[in-house]
Amino acid sequence: MAKLIDGKAISAQLKDELKEKVAQLSGMGKEITLAVIQVGADPASSVYVRNKKNACAYIGIESLSYELAEETSQEELLALIVRLNQNEKVNGILVQLPLPGHIDEDVIIKAIAPEKDVDGFHPQSVGAMSIGQKGFLSCTPAGVIELLKRSGIEIEGKECVVVGRSNIVGKPMAMLLLRENATVTVTHSRTKNLKEVTKRADILIAALGKPKFIKEDFVKEGAVVIDVGIHRQENGKLCGDVDFDNVADKVSAITPVPGGVGPMTIAMLMKNCVQSV
Ligand code: NAP
Repeated sequence: MAKLIDGKAISAQLKDELKEKVAQLSGMGKEITLAVIQVGADPASSVYVRNKKNACAYIGIESLSYELAEETSQEELLALIVRLNQNEKVNGILVQLPLPGHIDEDVIIKAIAPEKDVDGFHPQSVGAMSIGQKGFLSCTPAGVIELLKRSGIEIEGKECVVVGRSNIVGKPMAMLLLRENATVTVTHSRTKNLKEVTKRADILIAALGKPKFIKEDFVKEGAVVIDVGIHRQENGKLCGDVDFDNVADKVSAITPVPGGVGPMTIAMLMKNCVQSV
């Protein structure tokens, strides 16, 4: 049986470190405020927003909540972001995605001041990350790197295969692995012979958004498997993009779902908030 990479425990440790840092900053008269905007009442988004606000409360970050109606126009949302950009008390701005279809997410992301872009989605943040400059890192991929490091898994020189090339997970994941000196391959829906490629991986990152897609014939014996996927199954339980039970005996280490990458995403958001002061 593979070693379980415990994202819950590692994120708890990270949050405790951040809590201490926030207390130190507070002692120096520096308070941190995160503005959290949700448009509409998508139940999954509401859960994510609640978890983020709870993490803020635990760490000592003030969160300002903006719960806007589904019909909010793009102009109204932009006007709020402009106000928050100008508000010196606000250090970070988070707009929960996805947004309703009538709002252009790219326009909204670009409207957030890069120095308050704690999600790390602004083109300036993505560009800085790509060329190794200072800036906010996209939370989920940064959380994966933190998980690997804190689990004692070496990245340098390893063959890493990322399944998925989205702007929020796959692409930044590849850039961050490259920064850690891995040899990186990015795969996607048009990749030919996917299994042949994924079987080369010392570290396989699954972020394709297909429940239990990665089976034992996709992985090399002894590989490390990181499962970014989150899906609610018909029985109400969560599962990832990896078929955990099918793969676990073949690999050396694996993240569970839930309790793997998910909690790390929020912890890295908190890290970005602390960095924003
Ligand atoms: P996405 O935007 O739907 O992107 C999926 C990517 O996977 C695309 O690049 C797509 O390729 C590729 N893909 C789809 N089917 C494939 C296949 N059969 N073979 C190879 N590649 C395939 O998804 P996302 O936003 O990156 O999210 C991925 C998963 O991570 C989802 O389950 C999501 O819920 C989860 N997630 C978790 C967290 C967390 O905090 N744990 C955060 C974000 C996302 P093309 O580009 O060719 O279409």
